[in-house]
Amino acid sequence: MRKRLGLLFLLSFTAQAQEPNALPQADERYKADILVVVAHPDDEGAVTPYLARALDEHKRVAVVFGTRGSSGANEAGAEQAAALGDVREIEARNALTALGINNVWFVPGKDTASQNVLQSLANWDHAECLAQLVRLVRLTRPEVILTFLPGTFIGEDHGDHQASGVIATEAFDLAGDPTAFPEQVAAPMKRLEPWLENLRPWQPKKIYYFPDAEREDIFRGKGPDYSVKEISKSSKQAYWRMALDSFRAHRTQAKSYLDKIGQMDEAQIEKLATSEDGWGEDQHFVLGKSLVGGSVTGDIFEGITPGAVPFARPEVSNEPAKSDLSVELAGPWSFYAEFRRAHALTHLPHPEPPEIALEAPGTLVVPLWIRNSTTKSQVVTLSTTLPAGWTAQSGTGKFIVAPQQVAAARIEVSLPALPENAANKSAPQEISVRAEANGKLIGEAKLRVELRKHTLPQ
Ligand SMILES: [Zn+2]
Repeated sequence: MRKRLGLLFLLSFTAQAQEPNALPQADERYKADILVVVAHPDDEGAVTPYLARALDEHKRVAVVFGTRGSSGANEAGAEQAAALGDVREIEARNALTALGINNVWFVPGKDTASQNVLQSLANWDHAECLAQLVRLVRLTRPEVILTFLPGTFIGEDHGDHQASGVIATEAFDLAGDPTAFPEQVAAPMKRLEPWLENLRPWQPKKIYYFPDAEREDIFRGKGPDYSVKEISKSSKQAYWRMALDSFRAHRTQAKSYLDKIGQMDEAQIEKLATSEDGWGEDQHFVLGKSLVGGSVTGDIFEGITPGAVPFARPEVSNEPAKSDLSVELAGPWSFYAEFRRAHALTHLPHPEPPEIALEAPGTLVVPLWIRNSTTKSQVVTLSTTLPAGWTAQSGTGKFIVAPQQVAAARIEVSLPALPENAANKSAPQEISVRAEANGKLIGEAKLRVELRKHTLPQ
């Protein structure tokens, strides 16, 4: 007995005598208060006036781009395609460095000329981009994510902008989940571990969106607004002016504009930029969700205190009841209805009826789901009500829908040209698709459509 006690004493004495080894910690240099997720180089310009203010308040900012911007025209040089992407990556980094933001990453999305978020997600390799963004959320541990509003509107409404908002929302809901991409949050099994990343799950506290839409009515009062005309404590310039200076890096996208303002004096720049070019407009945000309370229109950092919050699995709301025989808009419209339910964002503003701007002359595609939950085949008749001069080219008439089938259908409508002397766009007009079965109306899908001389393809 005496002998064993002596041995225990010796062991504990040895343990105390050894210096404890510090276990490695997360790298503080990459901790962010704000993580911005946008699609293309120059999209950061949608929030740089707010970021300039946040940096004044000593917030740490990191930015993720969805693509390197390898498509479109090059105003500054001969480089195109992948080489243009190389140039634009540097331009985006320089734009952010001008504000003092150095933690900038690119996930491997590709420019997609479409308004359809589903095409962007397909072209981006949705799974890979999401995995990489979840990793970057875990690396940067942001308090707040700022991103484009996931929704479809008349506006710039680029599918890639929407895709950045979609993956940012998904990453918000997944990065805190230890079972999502578990290899990222697994501890090393080896010295110089080559696979497991030793990150920790991280739950951001709030997500805010900035809309890409032309209309503002449905966003009013849905989040905080910030004046861009206030003067920065650090630079003694207005926040819009700091944002414009940052934008000067984007020569491949805006050389002619930048050359023009390069020849102006300060008063001329202020007049042009704040009256015509939109640099003077307030920054509007839409609150997506907050896990730490705070008011809808309160400051973005209201309610945020240092330290981690527990992982919050979103509460999926119930699927709305659908009748046995029904028709609804498919494509991005039905996707977003499901997306808002799945991510507890049912309060997010969206236009009713849904809306889209299209190039005319051209074709409008109306994608539809026709649901037959009965036990018998059903004959469904599709018909349209269209403005004068618009014609249904295909997709109307009678269709057999099998028992228990949700069938995809689509109607193509040819759109007339705008008159030569007309403005670049028309007032939106409403179209409707009616579905009937057994002599009864089973559903009606409506859409507001604006015709333009130029816009992104549907
Ligand atoms: Zn863009």
